[in-house]
Amino acid sequence: MNANESELHYPLGESVPATGATVELAPGVRWLQMPLPFALDHINLWLLRDRQDGVDGWTIVDCGITNDATRAAWEQVFAERLEGLPVLRVIVTHMHPDHIGLAHWLTDRWNCRLWISATDYNAARIASHSTTGFGGERSAAFFASHGLTDPAAVAKVRARSNYYAGMVPRVPDAYRRLMDGMTLDIGGHAWRCIAGHGHAPEHIALHAPRLNLLISGDMVLPRISTNVSVYDLEPESDPLALFLTSLKRFDSLAADTLVLPSHGKPFTGLHARTRQLHEHHAERLADVAAACAAEPRHAADLLPVLFKRKLDLHQTTFAMGESIAHLHALWHAGKLQRRAGDDGIWRFSAA
Ligand SMILES: [Zn+2]
Repeated sequence: MNANESELHYPLGESVPATGATVELAPGVRWLQMPLPFALDHINLWLLRDRQDGVDGWTIVDCGITNDATRAAWEQVFAERLEGLPVLRVIVTHMHPDHIGLAHWLTDRWNCRLWISATDYNAARIASHSTTGFGGERSAAFFASHGLTDPAAVAKVRARSNYYAGMVPRVPDAYRRLMDGMTLDIGGHAWRCIAGHGHAPEHIALHAPRLNLLISGDMVLPRISTNVSVYDLEPESDPLALFLTSLKRFDSLAADTLVLPSHGKPFTGLHARTRQLHEHHAERLADVAAACAAEPRHAADLLPVLFKRKLDLHQTTFAMGESIAHLHALWHAGKLQRRAGDDGIWRFSAA
């Protein structure tokens, strides 16, 4: 447990559901986990008891990535944990591979609809057909323009051209649109959609006031700070400002809301956690501003400033996106200016 986590409370203790098993969090609300082949080795998914068009069944929230292990775990859940009832719909919080990966298989398997924001649906379709934003030549050129010129790192980014499509080979052909402020009736309970930006294009969290539950997706995680990155598809974007503004949408929720995050364990302490995230980024922004005040700096220069631990090549590529996000937040706020050098690299200095 890190220092920040000591401000949070894990009411379910240390127990997590084994792959293929579920834990009941409230009547008709079940928690399950699927393995991920990354340092972040699991994703939490949710089953909500539902009734659609007169048929009893389940709503799934988020899917896991496309691979045989995840499909096998789902089959075990279907056989043992659905009380013989069908899956009626698949809700996806956002377009990242661990969330939408198996949506195509789940919706085919149960002949049901995918529910997702329009922006993330379309972003997922584009990404599953291309290398945009997640590796390949354009990513390599983009990171190089921010100072990542180490040949091994550039080669690694360039080679990762199948990163997204490998985990999301297909996206369902049709979907139902989720929008901020919509209320879904899921099994007689009202779940309100809360859009969030900066982590994914249009992430949807789900809040059920009467159950006192928030499915926070990746917007609020208990242990790690949510990845907020600039990608080559939108090279001048300011995702950190979007993310920090989006977090304020959770301020009005009850302080004792049980938060169901996509990674880590269900927790209470929502307001403490969003405050920690604001503080974390305020500190990083101050560090970046100070470094750029001393001399013009590019994003790769700032990796040791932002990340105290040693990064491997894989982590470096994610860290670059985060470093650019911090520079862009200060640039868009008018605190830094940027200039491209003769080497084509953007350097930022005090405005
Ligand atoms: Zn995500």
